[in-house]
Amino acid sequence: MNLILLGPPGAGKGTQAQRLQDEKGLKQLSTGDMLRAEVKSGSALGKRAAGIMEAGQLVPDDLIIALIEARIAQPDCKNGFILDGFPRTTAQAEALDRMLGLRGLKLDRVIEMTVDEKALTDRITGRFSCASCGAGYHDRFKQPKKPGICDVCGSTEFIRRKDDNVETVTARLRAYHDQTAPLLPYYKARGVLQSVDGMASMDAVYKQILEALPGK
Ligand code: ADP
Ligand code: ADP
Ligand code: ZN
Repeated sequence: MNLILLGPPGAGKGTQAQRLQDEKGLKQLSTGDMLRAEVKSGSALGKRAAGIMEAGQLVPDDLIIALIEARIAQPDCKNGFILDGFPRTTAQAEALDRMLGLRGLKLDRVIEMTVDEKALTDRITGRFSCASCGAGYHDRFKQPKKPGICDVCGSTEFIRRKDDNVETVTARLRAYHDQTAPLLPYYKARGVLQSVDGMASMDAVYKQILEALPGK
């Protein structure tokens, strides 16, 4: 099964994709995580992307399309994948259609996660993650069970994203509305779009996503 989680920054895509990966054996493909890994490694691609990401804008389509195309060809995607943060533009969606077609794959569902704008800002500005295993947390909505210790791996080091600040959030939300929201009618017309209420608790959102999957 191949899925897209579609929603504005902070909607909960990463949180839900991680759980689907753990419980359903689908590979989470987060273009944001891939880009942050490139930035960290100091690669040419990372150098090109860093400033754009810090400004809250989208990196060029050709760059991100090449990244995803190489990724879905890997053996760990054989059982299906969850696209988290891709596609974000109509050109990316069209490129995805092409690459799936070439491999004889299909898109089973596009899950839209809806969240109020005010809640998005709260979620983004309180977000942090484990520096060691990447597990996601929030200052108010998901603290580690033991303060300062990662639930998953026991690490005591946490990181915050450079772009998770109030100033950049505005640009990221604008990019979502202008460039990504047009994908909703694009996928609706193909009969694969399902919406879930992203304002619900993490568990409740997960249940809604399971209900929205094919074979239910
Ligand atoms: P995205 O990948 O869409 O940007 P994340 O999954 O990283 O979003 O979630 C953003 C922040 O909000 C994280 O700190 C996460 O712990 C928190 N969060 C995710 N889902 C919910 C929810 N349903 N209710 C409250 N907080 C949430
Ligand atoms: P969010 O939590 O806002 O959903 P992501 O981790 O998905 O953030 O993305 C962080 C940044 O990486 C984006 O603001 C953008 O600069 C870049 N990025 C990630 N995915 C894409 C994509 N598919 N197309 C263009 N830029 C992307
Ligand atoms: Zn950890």
